[in-house]
Amino acid sequence: MSAHSTDVVIALEEVAAEVRVCPKCELCRTRTHAVPGEGSHTTRVMLIGEGPGWHEDQQGRPFVGNAGAFLNQLLQQAGLERADVFITNVVKCRPPGNRDPLPDEIAACAPYLERQIAAINPEIIVTLGRFSMAKWFPGERISKIHGEPRKFGNRTIVPMYHPAAALHQSGLRAIIEEDFARLPKILAQVDRLRLTEASRAAPPPEQTSMF
Ligand code: URA
Ligand code: SF4
Repeated sequence: MSAHSTDVVIALEEVAAEVRVCPKCELCRTRTHAVPGEGSHTTRVMLIGEGPGWHEDQQGRPFVGNAGAFLNQLLQQAGLERADVFITNVVKCRPPGNRDPLPDEIAACAPYLERQIAAINPEIIVTLGRFSMAKWFPGERISKIHGEPRKFGNRTIVPMYHPAAALHQSGLRAIIEEDFARLPKILAQVDRLRLTEASRAAPPPEQTSMF
């Protein structure tokens, strides 16, 4: 394991340890387990949901209920294993009764998400639902921009519907399946862009003739 990779693991473990005992918003009072997030620390792809539901709160792991089973299926259809990506949420503790997270809760929790993003430095972030979408696309409508990758510096953000919403609405289900099915192409496009930029930044040394 490279030194860099070890640093990432340490940074993620520090975040997780702090999250598990975090007192920074009201959600700490009602949680069973905080849910820091999990997955590969060397991944190119990070997925950000909304917040833990009942099952997640019970187990301390993200997306392990019905929405999680559907997400696993969507990832597989995109040629990605769940273990190959990193999955987390905007808020790390369950809002009671699965209500929407409140602005002050999202703000209190944001530094953990920032540190996770900084540590993993993913090339692609898939936002699941409107709360993670709002971080990069404030005021925009998911019905308009879902599935459309947009570059923010070196990162590509892909807004998607939330799997829990899509699971129960047949119209949305077909849409989220199509959006996930485009992920391999988006990954390939990001590869091409990186190669183009690398060759611009460092032109190859003058070629010596082979003849
Ligand atoms: N919904 C979310 O947004 N996150 C989870 O972890 C589970 C369900
Ligand atoms: Fe802390 Fe985030 Fe949990 Fe609030 S939701 S208690 S800020 S970890």
